[in-house]
Amino acid sequence: MTAKLIKGTEIREEILAEIKAEVEKIKEEHGIVPGLVTILVGEDPASVSYVTAKIKTANSLGFKEVQENRPETISEEELLALIDCYNKDRTVHGVLVQLPLPKHIDEKKVINAIDPDKDVDGFHPVNMGRLVIGGSAVKFRPPTPAAIQELILRAGVETNGAEVVVVGRSNIVGKPIAIMMMQKEPKANATVTVAHTRTRDLAFHCKRADILIVAAGVPGLVKPEWIKPGACVIDVGVNRVGWKISKKTGKRIALLKGDVDFEAAQEIAGWITPVPGGVGPMTITMLMRNTLNALKYKLGIA
Ligand code: NAP
Repeated sequence: MTAKLIKGTEIREEILAEIKAEVEKIKEEHGIVPGLVTILVGEDPASVSYVTAKIKTANSLGFKEVQENRPETISEEELLALIDCYNKDRTVHGVLVQLPLPKHIDEKKVINAIDPDKDVDGFHPVNMGRLVIGGSAVKFRPPTPAAIQELILRAGVETNGAEVVVVGRSNIVGKPIAIMMMQKEPKANATVTVAHTRTRDLAFHCKRADILIVAAGVPGLVKPEWIKPGACVIDVGVNRVGWKISKKTGKRIALLKGDVDFEAAQEIAGWITPVPGGVGPMTITMLMRNTLNALKYKLGIA
């Protein structure tokens, strides 16, 4: 069997078009567009590139986009004051602080300072609590788990009653996607197992999965023989395993690999996401959808 490729790059375009159309409609009917502020502290190259991509996408959708770049030396107090300023700004619906932050700043305090109704990353404890409750309580699904669920849904994979195995239990990927997939909801309703470094027999659990979601950050962790024939494999891992020279630009670019042995796995799985080009491109898209939703909640049209 050769697996169907779940192409994040293509599905992203569909969703961005949907968002753009909604933004135009809301602008016409309500005279307002979604407002997103991106707060970047320091100049970490990965963070700069993530923020640049978020800004570019927000602009392409017709959002109001505000960039706040601050030096590494900013104090925690100053950063909290900046967040407070945007919590109060009625033209801003999403407040995003790019993580990680420098060591002298308490990340938890910063996340907790964001107004939960503007927390488009969905990391605030109030939004995590809403996610656990499920149904209409949910406001913002964190972008990466939202991307995973959307890819499964749009690929047409049945989740009702499916055995879902999630490898990884981080707060940003593993835990939220496990919670989302077990909810009593049409695009979930799965029986979920969460595996981690203390799991006794990882292969045993993976082999049972109708839907295998791997977010461990270990290149090639999941072996092809661990995959159930016909399963849906979502590889969240993004691991830099070397460098290559881009044919287009001549620049040095990172060589990326997922957590699954892709070449061999695609001969066994029913569906599979590539790395790069699977979950990665979808994450910013879901962040944009959260920002649009934040405005819709405000207008009472969600
Ligand atoms: P993380 O915070 O480091 O968590 C990794 C999780 O995997 C932990 O729960 C860890 O278990 C588990 N794990 C690690 N090695 C394992 C092993 N050998 N066997 C079983 N479980 C193992 O990572 P994360 O932030 O969730 O990210 C995971 C991966 O996804 C990374 O490659 C990251 O770059 C990628 N990612 C991609 C996107 C995107 O595409 N947009 C977004 C976020 C993350 P313990 O809890 O026991 O330590």
